[in-house]
Amino acid sequence: MHLIVAEKNISARRIAEILAEGKKVTEHKDAGVSTYSFGDITTVGLRGHVVEIDFEPGYQNWRSEEYTPRSLIDAKTIKVPTEKRIVALLQKLARKADRVTIATDFDTEGELIGKEAYELVRAVNPRVTIDRARFSAITKQELQHAFANTTELDFALAAAGEARQSIDLMWGASLTRFISLAARRGGQNILSVGRVQSPTLGMIVDREKEIEAFVPEKYWQLALTTEKAGEQIEARHTHGRFHDKQEAEAARDRTREPLLVTEVREGTKQDRAPSPFDTTTYIVAAARLGLSAANAMRIAEDLYMNGFISYPRTDNTVYPASLDIDGILRTLRTSPFKKDVEWTIAHRRPVPTRGKKSSTDHPPIHPTGAGTREQLGDDAFKVYELVLRRFLATLAPDAQWKTLKILFEAGGEEYTTTGGQLVEPGWHAVYPFSEAKEVLLPAFVTGEKLPVRNVILDEKETQPPARYTQSKLIQRMEELGLGTKSTRHEVIAKLVSRKYVEGNPLRPTLVGRVVTESLEQHADTVTKPDMTQTIEAHMQQIKEKTRTREDVIKESREMLHAAFDQLEANEQIIGDDIRNRTAEEMNLGKCPVCGGMLAIKHLRGNTQFIGCSRYPECTFNIGLPMAQWGFAVRTDEVCDKHQLNFVRLVRKGARPWDIGCPLCHHISSNRESLAEMPSMTPTLAEKLLACHLYTVAELARSAPEDLAKRLGVPVADAARLTAEAAAMLEKLRRRSECRKFLRDHLIPRKGRSYAKIMESLKSHGVTELAGLAHAKAETLKSAGIGEAEAAQVLTEAKTVYYGQVLREMGIPAVSLKKYLAAGFITPDAFCELGPATLSERTGMSVGTVQKHIALVCAALGRQAPKKVSKLQAEKGRKELLTVKGLGETLAEKLILAGVTDGKSLLAADPQSIAAETGISRQKILDFQAALRRKKEIIEI
Ligand SMILES: [Zn+2]
Ligand SMILES: [Zn+2]
Repeated sequence: MHLIVAEKNISARRIAEILAEGKKVTEHKDAGVSTYSFGDITTVGLRGHVVEIDFEPGYQNWRSEEYTPRSLIDAKTIKVPTEKRIVALLQKLARKADRVTIATDFDTEGELIGKEAYELVRAVNPRVTIDRARFSAITKQELQHAFANTTELDFALAAAGEARQSIDLMWGASLTRFISLAARRGGQNILSVGRVQSPTLGMIVDREKEIEAFVPEKYWQLALTTEKAGEQIEARHTHGRFHDKQEAEAARDRTREPLLVTEVREGTKQDRAPSPFDTTTYIVAAARLGLSAANAMRIAEDLYMNGFISYPRTDNTVYPASLDIDGILRTLRTSPFKKDVEWTIAHRRPVPTRGKKSSTDHPPIHPTGAGTREQLGDDAFKVYELVLRRFLATLAPDAQWKTLKILFEAGGEEYTTTGGQLVEPGWHAVYPFSEAKEVLLPAFVTGEKLPVRNVILDEKETQPPARYTQSKLIQRMEELGLGTKSTRHEVIAKLVSRKYVEGNPLRPTLVGRVVTESLEQHADTVTKPDMTQTIEAHMQQIKEKTRTREDVIKESREMLHAAFDQLEANEQIIGDDIRNRTAEEMNLGKCPVCGGMLAIKHLRGNTQFIGCSRYPECTFNIGLPMAQWGFAVRTDEVCDKHQLNFVRLVRKGARPWDIGCPLCHHISSNRESLAEMPSMTPTLAEKLLACHLYTVAELARSAPEDLAKRLGVPVADAARLTAEAAAMLEKLRRRSECRKFLRDHLIPRKGRSYAKIMESLKSHGVTELAGLAHAKAETLKSAGIGEAEAAQVLTEAKTVYYGQVLREMGIPAVSLKKYLAAGFITPDAFCELGPATLSERTGMSVGTVQKHIALVCAALGRQAPKKVSKLQAEKGRKELLTVKGLGETLAEKLILAGVTDGKSLLAADPQSIAAETGISRQKILDFQAALRRKKEIIEI
């Protein structure tokens, strides 16, 4: 079998479909992984990297004394499979193969992925032939050529990729761990540092500082409007910017009619057709269509996999001679852009345009197949159209402009205006994405005099440099050699997801800035692009085989050790600095009660809340959901009413949960429970808010005298309010207990909402555990709880509820456990069953049990069964034994059921005693009859 290994499942399928040339392709699934077979050939797709490098075991513990952050620099790494099922299937197929072709993407990353597959194959089949197919587009022509001309895997290229992987892991892991530990941050709060990421962040921070340090300067611009052939025309003063206001005003005042045309300069301008797309220019163009860099790349990759465009990761801006441009144009004639394609064919320039960068690995990004909007969907079609039209533009002629420059003079002041007319649209005809704005001017003649309608003096200010947009940043990264065409957009996405930068254009967050500045101060190699550039140069040397991978990694280790020398010496300062400065990011605004600072507080164990800086003097606080529902952060939005920053809960992989203004949230979540208090009126509720009393708990805690003063009501009213609040608080506590009980006892299920269940139960009057313990099975059923589960929940509810009741009655917890274990759940059982029964079943002494019975009966207001002394008990027992047919064993059973003597035997209900003891009802009736007879004899 000939096994072809592709980079992804979708490319494996496409490769099979194309190479099969109409033969039937069969798809097989093995543990969820697909293979595609025809004839002797089988293709399988990886999922990019199927193994990853990680440190040897032991380094995972952050707090380890032995494995310090610095020790990660020299730590040994291992390869661990990340896609176990794919690895297993690949090896299973490799055992049976007599030829394996690696057909992963054609670049450093693809070569490394290919080498990983190579090693997995070799491990199980040391002798199989392994070759490599390289192609830049998943099209018939490219694939046939690639598979007819396979080569060897490029181990030098793969080694460059491996070196980058190791260095990235080593830098990222050691520095992230060092900084996070120094700043005492863990979990979702860690501060990540990365080889490319940190210098990129550094650029964004630097730009922000430039903007802050920028002092705007005023300047003035002078313009006038005139009229010709009924058209308003504006002309600018030739001086340009005036930096002196008086000078500008003087020029304005000298400007008088008539406006004399002193010169008319006509010219032509060539507007060169754009050069082919490399990754960066493509991302910049896609940004104009509103696509982020990451999105633009994701869509382009999809289009590549499906054969619509060529490989989108390329630095090349020159079409190679081998590219079949005629063939592509023929293919594109079947696309929805047929007309533009035909126009291009008819007007084709002799040689396509070319950019400055030429490399041999991939051609510039170009279309390879015909696609329609229905096939691709809106966004992908937009990108497809962009790539297609850019391709046409590079084949189209240059555009020609006719330019016109008019010089004027008015009162000795010189003015000018310019116009432009597109006389030959050229490439603009097929590429509408670049602006070609025409300014048409009427004809002017030298010496002509015109009126001055208006003289305008504009006061302006110089502007600070602009923040980076994603595409500008990618261009700048490229200039500085930061990252690669494949990784730049990912680095930016990472900075956003780690909350180091936000918005577009990008600006640093406080944390992003603090971390950068700390590193700059103490280990600037980490934030300067130089180090990264050096490493990129080293990668190139590995590719060219002038240096080894080991050698390069060794040098990188030394650089990192030098950085750690500085960092470790300043650990304390760095940590304190970051902690002190980032505390601010949690501040929300003024405390409504005392004017202190409200801030989000994160405690250990997932607890988070909003508290006041004047605690403990001010105890105002707002509860927040536990951090597992989302880590609370501040947003930029501010409440109009309370001037507090909004709060948002963020969780990895989940949509953020917006709490909004924390005080508005606090008020609305307490409104209902306050309203439930009997004396609450809307006016009173308003008054409470005005006095900064937001919760039932605060009311319940208040001293009536204080409350009376604050609200301006009589003390008696205030006392009633606090009493009502205390009762309400207890009610709320019981409700939340019931909610918690349901959450603990009902298995979470898809579509199951505890809030909905509570609501349904509430409509049946069940809000507390007591109600639940006595609820009917139908009530639970109507809340969506199944029969078996409902029965279990009811029993559990009874156990928990009566457990509480009994504890309140004074039964100690240890004893209670024993009663529950013996199956005594309700207080009634204590009064109805005799002490002997309880004692026997629980193993506690009769005396103890009797004490408990007395407590329960007193609480229920019932009479406790009489205490029985040992002597009496013995007497009763003997009495029972005198009854005919009643032996030791049966007497024991009766005593346990509370039948302790002759009198109680006569009084007992045979039915229930039978059920209790297991002695038949008839037998008990017989005993009673026998005893009665005996008594009659004695009485006679
Ligand atoms: Zn306060
Ligand atoms: Zn608010």
